[in-house]
Amino acid sequence: MTDTKGKVVGINGNMVSVEFDGNISMNEVAYVNVEGKKLKGEVIRIRGNVAQMQIYEMTQGIKAGDVVEFTGNLLSALLGPGLLGQVYDGLQNPLPLVAEQAGFFLERGVYVDSLSKTVKWEWTPSVNPGDTVLRGDSIGSVPEGPFTHKILVPFGFLGTYTVKEVTPAGSYTINDTMAVITDEKGTEYKLTMCFEWPVKRAVDCYAERLAPTETMVTKTRLIDTFFPVAKGGTYCIPGPFGAGKTVIQHTTSRNADVDIVIIAACGERAGEVVETIKEFPELKDPRTGESLMKRTIIICNTSSMPVASREASVYTSVTLAEYYRQMGLHVLLLADSTSRWAQALREMSGRLEEIPGEEAFPAYLESYIAAFYERAGYVRLRDGSFGSVTIGGTVSPAGGNFEEPVTQATLKVVGAFHGLTRERSDARKFPSIDPIASWSKYNGVVVEPKVAFSRNVYKRGVEVNQMMKVVGEEGTSTEDFIYYMKSEFLDYVYFQQNSFDEVDAAVTVERQNYTFNKVLAVLGSDFDLEDKDSARTFFNQIRQKFLDWNYIEWNSADFKTKEAEIDALYASKKGTLQAEAAALLKDGE
Ligand code: ADP
Ligand code: MG
Repeated sequence: MTDTKGKVVGINGNMVSVEFDGNISMNEVAYVNVEGKKLKGEVIRIRGNVAQMQIYEMTQGIKAGDVVEFTGNLLSALLGPGLLGQVYDGLQNPLPLVAEQAGFFLERGVYVDSLSKTVKWEWTPSVNPGDTVLRGDSIGSVPEGPFTHKILVPFGFLGTYTVKEVTPAGSYTINDTMAVITDEKGTEYKLTMCFEWPVKRAVDCYAERLAPTETMVTKTRLIDTFFPVAKGGTYCIPGPFGAGKTVIQHTTSRNADVDIVIIAACGERAGEVVETIKEFPELKDPRTGESLMKRTIIICNTSSMPVASREASVYTSVTLAEYYRQMGLHVLLLADSTSRWAQALREMSGRLEEIPGEEAFPAYLESYIAAFYERAGYVRLRDGSFGSVTIGGTVSPAGGNFEEPVTQATLKVVGAFHGLTRERSDARKFPSIDPIASWSKYNGVVVEPKVAFSRNVYKRGVEVNQMMKVVGEEGTSTEDFIYYMKSEFLDYVYFQQNSFDEVDAAVTVERQNYTFNKVLAVLGSDFDLEDKDSARTFFNQIRQKFLDWNYIEWNSADFKTKEAEIDALYASKKGTLQAEAAALLKDGE
């Protein structure tokens, strides 16, 4: 707390105008004293001696004359061991604990410690007196779940420091002193296991930012082969209700080859958030068989919090992601849904009476969205290790209209787009990612020329299908009809994948490549099929065999048997590779 105080002079929804006396700064946190409670808010505009604040709590009861206390601090997250497995609200209050203290609902003005002050952690120092350290460097570590949680020099410590004292290995709490360091002038600073960092400021203590080139394997064929995501990259998933957004989020969280998953759930309906909190702890981590929550953090808004806290959720979650990246870990942040955050920005902008942009969103919407996704990245740390933050954001465009500002602003900055469509989910084609409209700028697990070849066959088949709707099957040549059959084949045996089948739910890179070659052989072959009926029969048969194959454990005896059946069926119709496909498939690639 600083000495600066103010008093409320106006209230407009979650925006409170405060006349103040002294010095304050933009984005500074302040508390409004109301009915014996302190409600947290943030300064979002200063004009003369009047500041506008957005309040992160319900504002009823606030009245003119209420005292406001300024803190001098920016909205910050507490970083230290114990974050994993937590469910936080946007202000980093742990929700299960809150539920114990205040009944099921979080009462306003209740702020609980983000990290336990009493839990002891097994500290192992990694520096010695005399060593030089910079911000973001590790001074030691504690085990946290399956990870080595590095204890870092706080990110705000600019300059070079010398280690003066180091606490020997042992059990300590987050507020015990682990080391004493001195700056160039000899001033001493005590370092504990935790520190705060302003959530709206990107963490940039790494040695180098690298282009995201390594695929973040999700074990979902359609993503990894056709619309890959890179570690340190960004992607956008528009998710109309019922399109399979939740299921895809769960499968990605479970299977993505990252260390830590952070879910920022800012759903509009409280039910969606409750669903996330309830379902996530029940998900099993395929690596360990234990709860996935052990390497997950959930940040969500409780229904008792106003829209402003969505903004806090988004920034808090990316800050936690950057913190773990700084330890040399790979983090996936799933933000669901960024449209809700944008709506909160719109609401506040309206209250500030700013000049509105498209659809009344503020003019700075695009730069805010860009700045958020820019916090993703693949980095090399000073100790030579690598870490990444990958951001996947859902958008929920009204009426599924991708032309609206939030989707458009997001598409400008992300590296991949997974357009979930109502059409595919209604047809129960899951994952319902649109194979035509979706795109990715990243490297996938199958070499691009092969993917391009099958994409072309698919597109042609889809075109034929559209034509057939007009001219009928009779008006379609057998050759064209076969393209249609091939596109359906690719869709059913490769694009679609059953998240609820133990084997089919998660397909390794090796298996994707192996299966894909076989699929490509079918797509790129001519067959001895005299008419449409025989084509239909053949493709239905081969499709079914591939589907069965997908459900069989990789490289098992059954797997080989089924493969032999597929080969025999292929041979029975004198399957012959076309030159282009043959070229792609040679070298046994
Ligand atoms: P949303 O979150 O977009 O509203 P859900 O993820 O809850 O939609 O999906 C709706 C339903 O679709 C699920 O209950 C499930 O039955 C089905 N579904 C979604 N994805 C898959 C999938 N990959 N495999 C099988 N069924 C799926
Ligand atoms: Mg859902």
